[in-house]
Amino acid sequence: MIRLQETVQPVLRFAPSPNGALHLGHALSALTGFELARRLGGRFLVRIEDIDRARVKPEYVAGVFEDLAWLGIAWEQPVLFQSEHLAGYRQAAARLSAMGLLYPCFASRKEIIAAADPARVDPEGALVYPGLWRGRPEADIERELAKGEPYAMRLDMERALAVARKMIGGAPITFTEIDAAGRRRIVVCDPQRWGDVVVLRKETPSSYLISVVVDDARQGVTHVTRGMDLFAATDAQRVLQILLDLPAPLYHHHRLIVDPMGQKLSKSTGAQSLASLRAAGLSAQEVLQRISREAVSLPSG
Ligand code: GLU
Repeated sequence: MIRLQETVQPVLRFAPSPNGALHLGHALSALTGFELARRLGGRFLVRIEDIDRARVKPEYVAGVFEDLAWLGIAWEQPVLFQSEHLAGYRQAAARLSAMGLLYPCFASRKEIIAAADPARVDPEGALVYPGLWRGRPEADIERELAKGEPYAMRLDMERALAVARKMIGGAPITFTEIDAAGRRRIVVCDPQRWGDVVVLRKETPSSYLISVVVDDARQGVTHVTRGMDLFAATDAQRVLQILLDLPAPLYHHHRLIVDPMGQKLSKSTGAQSLASLRAAGLSAQEVLQRISREAVSLPSG
């Protein structure tokens, strides 16, 4: 059964990963959620997605709050830090494991790249995992475990889809997308294009996928507002929501702000941070104007 949380008070969130400074794209995401929450009479939360211990820095976390306050955004306390909830993600993964849907994968990046089909890439352009450890004999797994080799836990996507479909009575897996004009449409998911996704990473007992799903439910998020770059990721998130019996939020993926070369803004390509725009003397008002010039109108609900 697909459950949409429409009768409860709307809850929206901005969920940055503090792996770098926020840029205009983040400002648009945060403002979209904040404005929509205000319009719907809902609550607005900030969630710090800080599970990537190698890349997270305290100054980036502090920067999130400084930037949001500067933009005139207010959020509820307390803020949820994902690094404090690793046990919950592990627990959710254990549930999937008990359903026979996860398997350990000891393969290195190198081995995966060598075995992958170059023609099979996921929506983010990464090679699809070639299933190296799916269905491997118990003895192989025991041997690697005995050696103390690190492993990731992957979702057996085909099996997961079969179980998820059964759980929703054979209906297709879908989500509801609200466009910038407030129109709703049902999107039919194609999670298979992601292959056997990682649910628990080798280096962290979590992943973006499992933590976003667990936390959107934990926080009662009714409307997920985020950039179009995460549109396709919703497919895999819906599979986990169904398997873990979690409610389906509504989604609004806003258009991306692009640089003069037409590339989406990103930390890695050196997009100007909000902090640097502020230091250069731009006012928050000017940043807001720049965003509203770039962005299409906000959805009405
Ligand atoms: N933490 C993710 C990011 O910064 C966004 C998560 C989401 O909105 O679902 O890209």
